[in-house]
Amino acid sequence: MLIGCPKEIKPQEYRVGLTPAAANEAIAHGHSVLIETGAGAGAGFEDDDYRAIDAEIVETAEEVFERAEMIVKVKEPQAVERKRLRAGQILFTYLHLAPDPDQTHDLLNSGVTAIAYETVTAPTGGLPLLAPMSEVAGKLAPQMGAWALQKANGGRGVLLGGVPGVAPARVLVIGGGVVGTQAARVAAGMGAEVTVLDRSLPRLRELDDLFRAEFRTGYASAEAVAEALPTADMVIGAVLVPGAAAPKLVSRAQLTSMQHGAVLVDVAIDQGGCFETSHATTHKDPIYDVDAIIHYCVANMPGAVARTSTRALGNATMPFMLDIADKGWRQACIDDPHLRAGLNTHEGKLTNYEVGKALGIDV
Ligand code: NAD
Repeated sequence: MLIGCPKEIKPQEYRVGLTPAAANEAIAHGHSVLIETGAGAGAGFEDDDYRAIDAEIVETAEEVFERAEMIVKVKEPQAVERKRLRAGQILFTYLHLAPDPDQTHDLLNSGVTAIAYETVTAPTGGLPLLAPMSEVAGKLAPQMGAWALQKANGGRGVLLGGVPGVAPARVLVIGGGVVGTQAARVAAGMGAEVTVLDRSLPRLRELDDLFRAEFRTGYASAEAVAEALPTADMVIGAVLVPGAAAPKLVSRAQLTSMQHGAVLVDVAIDQGGCFETSHATTHKDPIYDVDAIIHYCVANMPGAVARTSTRALGNATMPFMLDIADKGWRQACIDDPHLRAGLNTHEGKLTNYEVGKALGIDV
Protein backbone atom coordinates (compact mmCIF):
# COMPACT_ATOMS: atom_id res chain seq x y z
CA MET A 1 0.00 0.00 0.00
CA LEU A 2 1.14 3.59 -0.61
CA ILE A 3 1.02 5.35 2.77
CA GLY A 4 1.19 9.15 2.88
CA CYS A 5 1.95 11.55 5.69
CA PRO A 6 1.39 15.29 5.18
CA LYS A 7 2.73 18.05 7.43
CA GLU A 8 0.21 19.04 10.09
CA ILE A 9 -1.30 22.47 9.38
CA LYS A 10 -3.42 23.08 12.48
CA PRO A 11 -1.93 26.08 14.34
CA GLN A 12 0.75 25.11 16.88
CA GLU A 13 0.61 21.43 15.99
CA TYR A 14 4.18 20.16 15.82
CA ARG A 15 3.58 16.42 15.91
CA VAL A 16 3.72 14.20 12.82
CA GLY A 17 1.62 11.15 11.96
CA LEU A 18 4.46 8.83 10.92
CA THR A 19 7.78 8.64 12.77
CA PRO A 20 10.79 7.38 10.82
CA ALA A 21 10.53 4.23 12.98
CA ALA A 22 6.91 3.62 11.91
CA ALA A 23 7.69 4.43 8.27
CA ASN A 24 10.60 2.01 8.44
CA GLU A 25 8.35 -0.81 9.69
CA ALA A 26 5.81 -0.11 6.96
CA ILE A 27 8.53 -0.28 4.33
CA ALA A 28 9.84 -3.53 5.86
CA HIS A 29 6.31 -4.91 5.43
CA GLY A 30 6.57 -4.19 1.70
CA HIS A 31 4.67 -0.87 1.63
CA SER A 32 5.80 2.50 0.23
CA VAL A 33 5.80 5.73 2.19
CA LEU A 34 5.38 9.33 1.01
CA ILE A 35 6.29 12.15 3.40
CA GLU A 36 5.67 15.84 2.76
CA THR A 37 8.91 17.76 3.08
CA GLY A 38 9.35 19.17 6.59
CA ALA A 39 6.50 17.08 8.01
CA GLY A 40 8.63 15.76 10.88
CA ALA A 41 10.63 18.92 11.59
CA GLY A 42 8.47 20.10 14.52
CA ALA A 43 9.02 16.76 16.24
CA GLY A 44 12.76 16.75 15.49
CA PHE A 45 12.70 14.39 12.47
CA GLU A 46 14.45 15.70 9.34
CA ASP A 47 13.66 14.74 5.73
CA ASP A 48 16.99 12.89 5.68
CA ASP A 49 15.82 10.66 8.54
CA TYR A 50 12.99 9.49 6.28
CA ARG A 51 15.15 9.32 3.16
CA ALA A 52 17.56 7.07 5.07
CA ILE A 53 14.84 4.43 5.39
CA ASP A 54 13.78 4.80 1.74
CA ALA A 55 10.66 6.87 2.23
CA GLU A 56 9.94 9.28 -0.64
CA ILE A 57 9.94 12.98 0.24
CA VAL A 58 7.50 15.08 -1.81
CA GLU A 59 7.22 18.85 -2.02
CA THR A 60 3.52 19.40 -1.42
CA ALA A 61 0.63 18.13 0.67
CA GLU A 62 -1.45 17.98 -2.54
CA GLU A 63 0.84 15.29 -3.90
CA VAL A 64 0.60 13.26 -0.69
CA PHE A 65 -3.21 13.41 -0.72
CA GLU A 66 -3.41 12.74 -4.46
CA ARG A 67 -1.16 9.68 -4.53
CA ALA A 68 -1.52 7.96 -1.15
CA GLU A 69 -3.97 5.12 -0.57
CA MET A 70 -3.83 5.72 3.18
CA ILE A 71 -3.22 9.10 4.85
CA VAL A 72 -1.76 8.92 8.37
CA LYS A 73 -1.99 12.13 10.39
CA VAL A 74 -2.28 13.44 13.94
CA LYS A 75 -5.04 16.08 13.99
CA GLU A 76 -8.39 16.06 12.26
CA PRO A 77 -8.12 17.15 8.62
CA GLN A 78 -8.56 20.89 8.23
CA ALA A 79 -11.04 22.28 5.67
CA VAL A 80 -8.40 22.57 2.92
CA GLU A 81 -7.25 19.00 3.57
CA ARG A 82 -10.79 17.63 3.55
CA LYS A 83 -11.24 18.87 -0.01
CA ARG A 84 -8.37 16.59 -1.03
CA LEU A 85 -9.82 13.36 0.40
CA ARG A 86 -11.64 10.87 -1.83
CA ALA A 87 -13.62 7.65 -1.90
CA GLY A 88 -11.41 4.57 -1.79
CA GLN A 89 -8.83 6.39 0.32
CA ILE A 90 -8.22 5.58 4.01
CA LEU A 91 -7.73 8.33 6.59
CA PHE A 92 -6.18 7.26 9.92
CA THR A 93 -5.95 10.09 12.47
CA TYR A 94 -7.69 11.80 15.43
CA LEU A 95 -11.08 13.06 14.24
CA HIS A 96 -13.30 13.95 17.27
CA LEU A 97 -16.37 14.14 15.03
CA ALA A 98 -19.11 14.32 17.70
CA PRO A 99 -18.78 18.08 18.33
CA ASP A 100 -17.80 18.87 14.70
CA PRO A 101 -20.68 18.68 12.20
CA ASP A 102 -18.76 20.59 9.46
CA GLN A 103 -15.93 18.11 9.45
CA THR A 104 -18.34 15.17 9.60
CA HIS A 105 -20.29 16.38 6.56
CA ASP A 106 -17.09 17.03 4.61
CA LEU A 107 -15.79 13.53 5.37
CA LEU A 108 -19.13 12.00 4.37
CA ASN A 109 -19.19 14.03 1.15
CA SER A 110 -15.63 13.01 0.29
CA GLY A 111 -16.48 9.29 0.56
CA VAL A 112 -13.22 8.65 2.47
CA THR A 113 -12.91 5.65 4.80
CA ALA A 114 -12.00 7.39 8.05
CA ILE A 115 -10.69 5.50 11.07
CA ALA A 116 -10.46 7.70 14.17
CA TYR A 117 -7.73 7.10 16.73
CA GLU A 118 -9.96 8.19 19.60
CA THR A 119 -12.64 5.55 19.08
CA VAL A 120 -10.33 2.54 18.64
CA THR A 121 -10.80 0.35 21.73
CA ALA A 122 -8.66 -2.23 23.58
CA PRO A 123 -9.50 -5.77 24.74
CA THR A 124 -8.60 -4.68 28.29
CA GLY A 125 -10.94 -1.65 28.09
CA GLY A 126 -9.94 1.97 27.61
CA LEU A 127 -8.87 3.82 24.50
CA PRO A 128 -5.35 2.75 23.51
CA LEU A 129 -4.73 5.56 21.04
CA LEU A 130 -5.85 8.28 23.47
CA ALA A 131 -4.00 6.89 26.49
CA PRO A 132 -0.48 7.91 25.41
CA MET A 133 -1.57 11.54 25.02
CA SER A 134 -3.27 11.42 28.42
CA GLU A 135 -0.02 10.08 29.87
CA VAL A 136 1.85 13.00 28.35
CA ALA A 137 -0.71 15.61 29.49
CA GLY A 138 -0.78 14.09 32.97
CA LYS A 139 2.99 14.22 33.35
CA LEU A 140 3.07 17.78 32.01
CA ALA A 141 0.32 19.11 34.27
CA PRO A 142 2.36 19.47 37.50
CA GLN A 143 5.31 20.77 35.47
CA MET A 144 3.19 23.57 33.97
CA GLY A 145 1.41 24.14 37.26
CA ALA A 146 4.78 24.47 39.04
CA TRP A 147 5.80 27.09 36.48
CA ALA A 148 2.52 28.98 36.98
CA LEU A 149 3.04 28.88 40.76
CA GLN A 150 6.17 30.98 40.36
CA LYS A 151 5.72 34.58 41.52
CA ALA A 152 6.66 36.14 38.19
CA ASN A 153 3.82 34.22 36.55
CA GLY A 154 1.26 35.43 39.09
CA GLY A 155 1.47 32.35 41.31
CA ARG A 156 1.91 32.07 45.07
CA GLY A 157 5.66 31.82 44.81
CA VAL A 158 5.66 28.30 46.21
CA LEU A 159 8.17 25.61 45.30
CA LEU A 160 6.37 22.31 44.76
CA GLY A 161 8.77 20.18 46.76
CA GLY A 162 9.55 22.69 49.50
CA VAL A 163 13.04 22.52 51.07
CA PRO A 164 14.26 21.12 54.38
CA GLY A 165 12.47 23.17 57.01
CA VAL A 166 9.80 24.49 54.60
CA ALA A 167 6.71 22.41 53.84
CA PRO A 168 6.04 21.25 50.28
CA ALA A 169 3.09 22.49 48.21
CA ARG A 170 -0.28 20.77 48.41
CA VAL A 171 -1.58 19.39 45.13
CA LEU A 172 -5.15 18.20 44.67
CA VAL A 173 -5.83 16.00 41.63
CA ILE A 174 -9.50 15.51 40.73
CA GLY A 175 -9.94 12.39 38.57
CA GLY A 176 -7.61 9.43 39.06
CA GLY A 177 -7.61 7.93 35.55
CA VAL A 178 -4.69 8.02 33.12
CA VAL A 179 -4.09 11.79 33.34
CA GLY A 180 -4.68 11.99 37.09
CA THR A 181 -2.42 9.08 37.96
CA GLN A 182 0.50 10.39 35.93
CA ALA A 183 -0.04 13.90 37.30
CA ALA A 184 -0.12 12.63 40.88
CA ARG A 185 3.00 10.55 40.40
CA VAL A 186 4.99 13.45 38.96
CA ALA A 187 3.74 15.92 41.58
CA ALA A 188 4.63 13.43 44.33
CA GLY A 189 7.97 12.80 42.66
CA MET A 190 8.65 16.54 42.77
CA GLY A 191 8.08 16.36 46.51
CA ALA A 192 4.56 17.79 46.74
CA GLU A 193 1.93 16.52 49.16
CA VAL A 194 -0.65 15.00 46.82
CA THR A 195 -4.27 13.90 47.17
CA VAL A 196 -6.21 12.23 44.35
CA LEU A 197 -10.01 12.32 44.39
CA ASP A 198 -12.13 10.08 42.15
CA ARG A 199 -15.73 8.87 42.06
CA SER A 200 -14.90 5.30 41.07
CA LEU A 201 -14.32 3.09 44.10
CA PRO A 202 -12.64 0.33 42.05
CA ARG A 203 -10.24 2.96 40.70
CA LEU A 204 -9.58 4.33 44.20
CA ARG A 205 -8.80 0.80 45.38
CA GLU A 206 -6.32 0.30 42.54
CA LEU A 207 -4.64 3.63 43.24
CA ASP A 208 -4.44 2.89 46.93
CA ASP A 209 -2.92 -0.55 46.31
CA LEU A 210 -0.33 0.78 43.89
CA PHE A 211 0.55 4.24 45.18
CA ARG A 212 -0.28 4.41 48.89
CA ALA A 213 3.28 5.42 49.66
CA GLU A 214 3.25 8.24 47.11
CA PHE A 215 -0.12 9.96 47.52
CA ARG A 216 -3.43 9.88 49.36
CA THR A 217 -6.78 9.04 47.79
CA GLY A 218 -10.29 10.24 48.56
CA TYR A 219 -13.83 10.00 47.26
CA ALA A 220 -14.64 12.99 45.04
CA SER A 221 -17.76 14.29 46.76
CA ALA A 222 -18.54 17.99 46.36
CA GLU A 223 -17.81 18.29 50.07
CA ALA A 224 -14.34 16.72 49.75
CA VAL A 225 -13.45 19.11 46.93
CA ALA A 226 -14.71 22.12 48.90
CA GLU A 227 -12.71 21.04 51.97
CA ALA A 228 -9.48 20.66 50.03
CA LEU A 229 -9.61 23.94 48.08
CA PRO A 230 -8.61 26.41 50.85
CA THR A 231 -5.26 24.70 51.47
CA ALA A 232 -4.43 23.61 47.90
CA ASP A 233 -1.57 25.33 46.10
CA MET A 234 -2.43 23.56 42.85
CA VAL A 235 -5.59 21.79 41.66
CA ILE A 236 -5.34 19.55 38.60
CA GLY A 237 -8.64 18.77 36.83
CA ALA A 238 -8.39 15.33 35.19
CA VAL A 239 -11.93 13.97 35.05
CA LEU A 240 -13.62 12.28 32.13
CA VAL A 241 -17.20 11.16 31.73
CA PRO A 242 -17.07 9.30 28.40
CA GLY A 243 -19.19 10.91 25.71
CA ALA A 244 -20.17 13.88 27.88
CA ALA A 245 -18.90 17.36 28.63
CA ALA A 246 -16.71 17.53 31.73
CA PRO A 247 -18.70 18.11 34.94
CA LYS A 248 -18.02 21.49 36.62
CA LEU A 249 -16.39 20.61 39.93
CA VAL A 250 -15.17 24.03 41.14
CA SER A 251 -17.49 27.04 40.88
CA ARG A 252 -16.44 30.65 40.50
CA ALA A 253 -17.73 31.36 44.00
CA GLN A 254 -15.39 28.69 45.38
CA LEU A 255 -12.33 30.52 44.04
CA THR A 256 -12.74 32.98 46.91
CA SER A 257 -12.07 30.11 49.35
CA MET A 258 -8.67 29.50 47.75
CA GLN A 259 -5.31 31.12 48.54
CA HIS A 260 -4.32 34.02 46.26
CA GLY A 261 -1.94 32.81 43.58
CA ALA A 262 -3.04 29.17 43.79
CA VAL A 263 -3.08 27.45 40.40
CA LEU A 264 -5.81 25.54 38.58
CA VAL A 265 -4.57 23.26 35.77
CA ASP A 266 -7.63 22.16 33.78
CA VAL A 267 -6.49 19.21 31.69
CA ALA A 268 -10.13 18.33 30.98
CA ILE A 269 -10.46 21.59 29.04
CA ASP A 270 -10.69 19.62 25.78
CA GLN A 271 -14.03 18.32 27.11
CA GLY A 272 -15.18 21.81 28.12
CA GLY A 273 -13.20 22.03 31.36
CA CYS A 274 -14.06 20.97 34.91
CA PHE A 275 -13.72 24.39 36.57
CA GLU A 276 -16.49 26.95 35.95
CA THR A 277 -13.96 29.68 35.17
CA SER A 278 -11.92 27.67 32.64
CA HIS A 279 -11.60 28.64 29.01
CA ALA A 280 -9.17 27.16 26.51
CA THR A 281 -5.74 28.78 26.21
CA THR A 282 -2.76 28.24 23.90
CA HIS A 283 0.91 27.37 24.41
CA LYS A 284 1.77 30.97 23.43
CA ASP A 285 -0.54 32.48 26.06
CA PRO A 286 -1.22 29.60 28.45
CA ILE A 287 -2.39 31.25 31.70
CA TYR A 288 -4.87 33.85 32.92
CA ASP A 289 -6.11 35.02 36.27
CA VAL A 290 -9.64 34.99 37.69
CA ASP A 291 -10.07 36.41 41.21
CA ALA A 292 -6.30 36.00 41.81
CA ILE A 293 -6.37 32.30 40.94
CA ILE A 294 -4.10 31.39 38.03
CA HIS A 295 -5.67 29.16 35.37
CA TYR A 296 -3.69 26.99 32.92
CA CYS A 297 -6.09 25.54 30.32
CA VAL A 298 -4.14 24.50 27.21
CA ALA A 299 -6.33 22.20 25.13
CA ASN A 300 -3.50 20.44 23.27
CA MET A 301 -0.91 20.02 26.02
CA PRO A 302 0.97 17.15 24.28
CA GLY A 303 1.95 19.59 21.49
CA ALA A 304 4.33 21.27 23.97
CA VAL A 305 6.52 18.17 23.92
CA ALA A 306 6.00 17.25 20.28
CA ARG A 307 8.93 14.88 20.06
CA THR A 308 7.92 12.76 23.06
CA SER A 309 4.25 12.91 22.04
CA THR A 310 4.92 11.93 18.43
CA ARG A 311 6.93 8.91 19.50
CA ALA A 312 4.39 7.90 22.14
CA LEU A 313 1.54 8.20 19.64
CA GLY A 314 3.56 6.38 16.97
CA ASN A 315 4.19 3.44 19.31
CA ALA A 316 0.45 3.11 19.86
CA THR A 317 -0.77 3.64 16.27
CA MET A 318 1.90 1.59 14.47
CA PRO A 319 0.43 -1.91 14.96
CA PHE A 320 -2.98 -0.72 13.71
CA MET A 321 -1.44 1.18 10.79
CA LEU A 322 0.50 -1.93 9.77
CA ASP A 323 -2.57 -4.12 10.09
CA ILE A 324 -4.61 -1.80 7.84
CA ALA A 325 -1.80 -1.60 5.29
CA ASP A 326 -1.12 -5.36 5.31
CA LYS A 327 -4.71 -6.60 5.12
CA GLY A 328 -6.69 -3.63 3.79
CA TRP A 329 -9.03 -1.76 6.13
CA ARG A 330 -11.98 -4.13 5.62
CA GLN A 331 -10.19 -7.36 6.55
CA ALA A 332 -8.29 -5.63 9.34
CA CYS A 333 -11.61 -4.44 10.83
CA ILE A 334 -13.21 -7.88 10.42
CA ASP A 335 -10.26 -9.49 12.22
CA ASP A 336 -10.12 -6.89 15.01
CA PRO A 337 -13.38 -5.52 16.42
CA HIS A 338 -11.37 -2.98 18.41
CA LEU A 339 -10.03 -1.44 15.21
CA ARG A 340 -13.55 -1.68 13.77
CA ALA A 341 -14.68 0.55 16.65
CA GLY A 342 -12.44 3.21 15.12
CA LEU A 343 -14.27 3.23 11.78
CA ASN A 344 -16.22 6.52 11.66
CA THR A 345 -17.10 7.06 7.97
CA HIS A 346 -17.07 4.93 4.83
CA GLU A 347 -18.28 5.87 1.33
CA GLY A 348 -20.59 8.61 2.56
CA LYS A 349 -22.01 6.61 5.49
CA LEU A 350 -21.48 7.38 9.16
CA THR A 351 -20.39 4.17 10.91
CA ASN A 352 -20.01 5.24 14.55
CA TYR A 353 -23.13 5.10 16.69
CA GLU A 354 -22.03 7.67 19.31
CA VAL A 355 -21.10 10.22 16.66
CA GLY A 356 -24.44 9.65 14.90
CA LYS A 357 -26.30 10.11 18.17
CA ALA A 358 -24.42 13.33 18.95
CA LEU A 359 -25.03 14.82 15.50
CA GLY A 360 -28.48 13.40 14.76
CA ILE A 361 -27.25 11.50 11.70
CA ASP A 362 -28.42 7.95 10.86
CA VAL A 363 -25.74 5.30 11.26
P1 NAD B 1 -9.76 8.47 32.21
O1 NAD B 1 -11.05 7.93 31.75
O2 NAD B 1 -8.55 7.60 32.24
O3 NAD B 1 -9.93 9.04 33.71
C1 NAD B 1 -10.97 9.88 34.07
C2 NAD B 1 -11.27 9.66 35.56
O4 NAD B 1 -12.21 10.66 35.98
C3 NAD B 1 -11.89 8.30 35.87
O5 NAD B 1 -11.10 7.61 36.83
C4 NAD B 1 -13.27 8.66 36.43
O6 NAD B 1 -13.70 7.78 37.44
C5 NAD B 1 -13.02 10.06 36.97
N1 NAD B 1 -14.20 10.89 37.17
C6 NAD B 1 -15.29 11.01 36.38
N2 NAD B 1 -16.15 11.90 36.93
C7 NAD B 1 -15.58 12.35 38.08
C8 NAD B 1 -15.97 13.28 39.07
N3 NAD B 1 -17.13 13.94 39.00
N4 NAD B 1 -15.13 13.49 40.10
C9 NAD B 1 -13.96 12.83 40.17
N5 NAD B 1 -13.53 11.94 39.27
C10 NAD B 1 -14.34 11.71 38.23
O7 NAD B 1 -9.50 9.79 31.36
P2 NAD B 1 -8.08 10.46 31.07
O8 NAD B 1 -7.46 9.82 29.88
O9 NAD B 1 -7.32 10.52 32.35
O10 NAD B 1 -8.51 11.93 30.62
C11 NAD B 1 -8.89 12.91 31.56
C12 NAD B 1 -9.23 14.22 30.84
O11 NAD B 1 -8.05 14.77 30.26
C13 NAD B 1 -10.19 14.02 29.66
O12 NAD B 1 -11.11 15.09 29.66
C14 NAD B 1 -9.30 14.10 28.44
O13 NAD B 1 -10.00 14.50 27.29
C15 NAD B 1 -8.33 15.15 28.92
N6 NAD B 1 -7.07 15.27 28.15
C16 NAD B 1 -6.68 16.54 27.86
C17 NAD B 1 -5.49 16.76 27.20
C18 NAD B 1 -5.05 18.18 26.95
O14 NAD B 1 -4.13 18.38 26.16
N7 NAD B 1 -5.65 19.18 27.60
C19 NAD B 1 -4.69 15.68 26.79
C20 NAD B 1 -5.12 14.38 27.10
C21 NAD B 1 -6.32 14.18 27.80
